[in-house]
Amino acid sequence: MLTQFEALQLTKDENGQRAAWTQLTDADLMDGDVTVRITHSTVNYKDGLAITGKAPVVRRWPMVPGIDFAGVVETSSHAEFKPGDKVVLNGWGTGETHLGAYAQYSRVKGDWLVPLPASISSWEAMAIGTAGYTAMLCVLALEGQGITPEKGTVLVTGAAGGVGSVAIALLSKLGYTVAGSTGRPEEEAYLRGLGAAGIVSRQELSGPVKPLSRERWAAAIDTVGSNTLANVLGQVKYGGSVAACGNAQGMDLPGSVAPFILRAITLAGVDSAMVPKPKRLQAWSRLASDLDRQKLASMSRTRPWREVLDIAPEIIAGKVRGRIVLEVS
Ligand code: NDP
Repeated sequence: MLTQFEALQLTKDENGQRAAWTQLTDADLMDGDVTVRITHSTVNYKDGLAITGKAPVVRRWPMVPGIDFAGVVETSSHAEFKPGDKVVLNGWGTGETHLGAYAQYSRVKGDWLVPLPASISSWEAMAIGTAGYTAMLCVLALEGQGITPEKGTVLVTGAAGGVGSVAIALLSKLGYTVAGSTGRPEEEAYLRGLGAAGIVSRQELSGPVKPLSRERWAAAIDTVGSNTLANVLGQVKYGGSVAACGNAQGMDLPGSVAPFILRAITLAGVDSAMVPKPKRLQAWSRLASDLDRQKLASMSRTRPWREVLDIAPEIIAGKVRGRIVLEVS
């Protein structure tokens, strides 16, 4: 039985949403067959939305936010896990409907957990986080559409963000020529260091939509949505593919069917939260083999978990570069 432990708790009443550090006990944890001592977490865009209340991510109150964690199994009645095992969790409603990662302990269904690949440390797992694991899912989606390095340049939008940074590093290690679209020209050296061969200004893509324009990209990973995604679709070469995972510009898609019916473009949707386990195991195994760890370290910064309330508005404002690891004390 766990004595008291620390957690960040979101509450909501008629005056709005509030966040406060609090003490919880074993009795507060939700149903599950594995209890994990959380050692590391991170801050994804969705965490920023949940903590700031900018979007209705949280659907159970009170809630401990945080959509992913890495940690060590404390107790388990699940056949696959025993105390001491290192595990990682992404999504499954954690931080939305199930008490989440900004706590020293979490109790979850063992079926949600992925055993941490031996070559990935818990710190690296959260440097990757849901953002990096989603970048891998996007790469898998493009591969599934037959995209190979010989087909031409792959564009990554929201390049200096978490998903974008990991996507560039992955694609570059896999031999793709990569271009990154960013609204932060001062990050050009950073993006080239991750493997981007070309830089596209965010404004070139985020303005009025041209349903079809010059064919530039063999494929794209889009983290931005809205006009940007619509413009990217209009620039993909005949038979190409776009993996769409994000909405940093907006949820809308103000485009036309022209790229689909005239250029046979495929739009592959990518969700990370409810992905079945075999795909998760595949993604984490590919992250172990295909992500350059020096690049991962160079795009990631460690911050005390107490700073998460400061980081949340920063990530929503597009001010966070790359990835943040929270060390849970
Ligand atoms: P980050 O904040 O780290 O990155 C988002 C990037 O988008 C920013 O760094 C910025 O890149 C760019 N951006 C921000 N605002 C705008 C804007 N108004 N117009 C155009 N570009 C903008 O977030 P993450 O990388 O963690 O997540 C990226 C997106 O992917 C989010 O929308 C998130 O919700 C989504 N996501 C979806 C998942 C899924 O399961 N489908 C899982 C994980 C993330 P730059 O400064 O380079 O222009």
